Amino acid sequence: MKILKETLSKQNKKIELYGNDNNNKNLIIGVFHGDEPQGDYLINEYMKFNRNSNLLFIPCLNPDGMALNTRQNSNNVDLNRNFPTKNWIINEDKNYFGGNEPASEIETKFVIDVINTYKPKIILTLHAPYCVVNYDGEAKEISTKISEIINYPVEEDIGYATPGSFGTYAGKEKGIPTITLELDETIDVQELIKPVHKIFDYLSIL
Ligand SMILES: [Zn+2]
Repeated sequence: MKILKETLSKQNKKIELYGNDNNNKNLIIGVFHGDEPQGDYLINEYMKFNRNSNLLFIPCLNPDGMALNTRQNSNNVDLNRNFPTKNWIINEDKNYFGGNEPASEIETKFVIDVINTYKPKIILTLHAPYCVVNYDGEAKEISTKISEIINYPVEEDIGYATPGSFGTYAGKEKGIPTITLELDETIDVQELIKPVHKIFDYLSIL
């Protein structure tokens, strides 16, 4: 697959968007949180064997956090609280600190740019460790199908407000069906290949 867009993180690590020129329209994003590295491996494995895929992939959105094994990026910002939603606030809780202003981070700007350029129809983000399928926007049917493939329950609402979250930004405010897949981190990532790749296959025919 080709690199369609790339940028450098604060620590000069590459953040890349992969795709083909074949009308790809669904986007999959790995490693929003640096201590949830499964997505990078699972996406790279998929791309090796599906070179003509019509999907768009950002295997690792947060390479600095992945190198540091932190949830946040190297500015101590939780990217999943840094999106310019209507309810964005300065969060004083340092575990969920979303920056001093919305979209302050390179990684956040990159995703916004990708969405504005490629206008994906559906977005899937890969997280860990809760073993659930969350969604924002009109994604109930898709989430149910994903739930059947991986055998995690669907949860429409995680029960608390998440100002600046990607789901609120893309799913609720931009109206793009957005699924947050929370993977099991207690099993070997190899065991996730089969169900997760089946989910990618499913998204490639929608
Ligand atoms: Zn996460």
